[in-house]
Amino acid sequence: MLKIAWSPVYKYELPEGHRFPMVKYELIPEQLQYEGTAGTDNFFHPDPLPEQVALLTHTKEYWDKLTHVRLSEKEIRAIGFPINEKFVHRGRHIANGTLQCALYAQTYGCAMNIAGGTHHAFADHGEGYCCFNDQAVAANYLLNNHLAKKILIVDLDVHQGNGTASIFRNEPRVFTFSMHGERNYPLRKEQSSLDIGLPDGMTDAPYLDILHDTLPRVADAFQPDFIFYLSGVDILATDQLGRLQISREACRERDRFVLSFCKQHRIPVAVSMGGGYSRRIADIVEAHANTFRMAQEVFF
Ligand SMILES: [Zn+2]
Repeated sequence: MLKIAWSPVYKYELPEGHRFPMVKYELIPEQLQYEGTAGTDNFFHPDPLPEQVALLTHTKEYWDKLTHVRLSEKEIRAIGFPINEKFVHRGRHIANGTLQCALYAQTYGCAMNIAGGTHHAFADHGEGYCCFNDQAVAANYLLNNHLAKKILIVDLDVHQGNGTASIFRNEPRVFTFSMHGERNYPLRKEQSSLDIGLPDGMTDAPYLDILHDTLPRVADAFQPDFIFYLSGVDILATDQLGRLQISREACRERDRFVLSFCKQHRIPVAVSMGGGYSRRIADIVEAHANTFRMAQEVFF
């Protein structure tokens, strides 16, 4: 059974004209149910992230600032959303959604969050639409509870997973692999265990070649017993921020490859959606929906 974390709180009301496509958090579960990729049994509403779990990853000072809504103007600007209690509440549900997906993945092989991939959140601050780092929170939970020994984070969002890289910089039990646009945000990159910076305009064949070559090599050397996959669809040619030229078909092939790899090697995988900023909302929804379709096809 493909378990999918989702809650109505995922969709956060933004001011008119804000460029973040928040509506995808409503349209994707609708689409998946409409077409029969997922039914009501598949979805679960995650609990809010408890403080003691958050503090395995984030500093107490940052947690207090968020939960008491006491960030400075500058800190709020860095995150890029207006911040109130609702937003922090939403972030806690999303982060815990990924954590619960990780636990479901250990039972079912794969589980997915309709949000998350908030890889620009650091231990002590947020940026780039991210406040809590969901995959880091879930990874630290697994390690802390002896539910995994070696965790591989496969971050294929077009932006570098700078927060994740920084959080695990000195953690040998977590391997961070980020494949991203070299000239894209964040301009100042952190050092992941493995960074592959892609040139602007990269097309399908070389992109998939790099992935096909790198993932097996990394996994072979590191031998993870758990994988987090960040399946951002901002690699698409239609993306307004992406700078790459990847087709929707190649994006789906990317998902197929990563998920099949996990399945073949019997490594549980928890998937977080990540970014997607195509002009047409249908392009975003369709590409994200492909990840869920592929999970059903590969695992169930
Ligand atoms: Zn992104």
